[in-house]
Amino acid sequence: MPIPLTLYDNYARALRKFEPLGGGDRVDIYTCGPTVYDYQHIGNYRTFLFEDTLRRVLEWNGYRVTHVMNVTDVGHLVSDADTGEDKMEKGARRTGKSAWEIAALYTDAFLADLKLLNIEAPTILCRATDHIADQIAFITDIEKNGYTYRTSDGIYFDTSKQADYGHLARLDIEGLEAGKRVEVGEKRHPTDFALWKFSPAGEKRQMEWDSPWGRGFPGWHIECSAMAQRYLGDFFDIHCGGEDHIPVHHTNEIAQTEARVGTHLANFWMHGYFLLVKDAKMAKSAGEFLRLQSLIERGYDPLAYRYLCLTGHYRSQLNFTWEAQDAAATGLARMRQAFFALPDEPAAQPNAEFIERFTDCVNDDLNMPRALAVAWELLRGDARDPAQAKATLKHFDRVFGLALAQWKPEETAIPDAIKALADARAAARNAKNWAEADRLRKEIAAAGFEVEDRADGYSLKSRG
Ligand code: AMP
Ligand code: ZN
Repeated sequence: MPIPLTLYDNYARALRKFEPLGGGDRVDIYTCGPTVYDYQHIGNYRTFLFEDTLRRVLEWNGYRVTHVMNVTDVGHLVSDADTGEDKMEKGARRTGKSAWEIAALYTDAFLADLKLLNIEAPTILCRATDHIADQIAFITDIEKNGYTYRTSDGIYFDTSKQADYGHLARLDIEGLEAGKRVEVGEKRHPTDFALWKFSPAGEKRQMEWDSPWGRGFPGWHIECSAMAQRYLGDFFDIHCGGEDHIPVHHTNEIAQTEARVGTHLANFWMHGYFLLVKDAKMAKSAGEFLRLQSLIERGYDPLAYRYLCLTGHYRSQLNFTWEAQDAAATGLARMRQAFFALPDEPAAQPNAEFIERFTDCVNDDLNMPRALAVAWELLRGDARDPAQAKATLKHFDRVFGLALAQWKPEETAIPDAIKALADARAAARNAKNWAEADRLRKEIAAAGFEVEDRADGYSLKSRG
């Protein structure tokens, strides 16, 4: 029997056996989506790939996954401290387009990249700007429950009202209070955060709405609490995001939900660790910003980036280097060729021992590097039944998502002169002129091509 699915829950800071809350085979997950003020970089995609792997592993275990992902198209401010401009309004200025136009543009670009990376589309993709009423209703409830206060620029959440505020991140609240800096402004505590921001006086924002508190826009955290609750209820199975979400965004999602319904929103809180470049976080605002398109322009298949991400465990940071990307591209190319070369027999059954070993790896908190090693061991075992090996790898690829079965070697164009030689050789064979047929085969081979006889004629391929 393979080991049961075990996942690392950052709320408990422990590996826990996974069991769906509903008791059946349905699993609900919510993953924080992109902020669509610019293209996503490959660091962002590392997190989305981790979440896709999680979803595939849940499916491998027989669960039916409902996956909700939001699109942040309003309210994410430049600074996590609720100061600075809205990233969307800033992005609009940068591009000379409207905030609504860039939201559509970068959402489409994101969805196109997901396809290239073979990431399964979320079951529900929801935009913050389509759920303003849900967010207002949410804030109204937590206001009634006594968790809010007003400043000159918005409605804030009073984090001191919750004894366990910051539990997810194990925040040192006393230390933060003691080190309080002047930037706290009108906020009562450094960890307090905006639920609703007022449009600046005398300034017309592109995205703004009326609310019980005045014209303005929602804070960033409230959108996820509101949409997660709307689609998945008060307490659902798994919530994910990147590791940067632990101390602020997810901490505040939990605070809001506790204030409204008394739960910490999700049974498991899982986080993808960062992709680094030269030991620093890959970020849109700093350093090297590599898009998926940058890899494609350099000649890499997007799935070679997926392969690279599979070589690192999601709970360790991964340093991006071109050497590592090259090695991943080679690994993928070898795996594709090996898979292609194996015979396809529809009746072949996967190898039970390998399926169990693979399950042990993926169920061990998504240990994909070990799962890849199991796949290589299968491919290198010459003595194994090749059709069975192919059937087994086909199953593994439901989790790897490398689209192995879709790959074919590129067909090199065959020059007309070579085709003419091959036709002449076929005619010689028909006339049983074996010596001439053999001479022509050699001539074709000398030109770098190989002719193979088939029942219905012949095929030609490059020997290169
Ligand atoms: P954003 O578009 O900034 O809202 O981020 C989208 C997702 O990417 C979030 O889950 C972030 O936590 C995650 N993320 C941001 N930077 C990185 C990085 N360098 N490596 C991995 N994930 C990241
Ligand atoms: Zn979120």
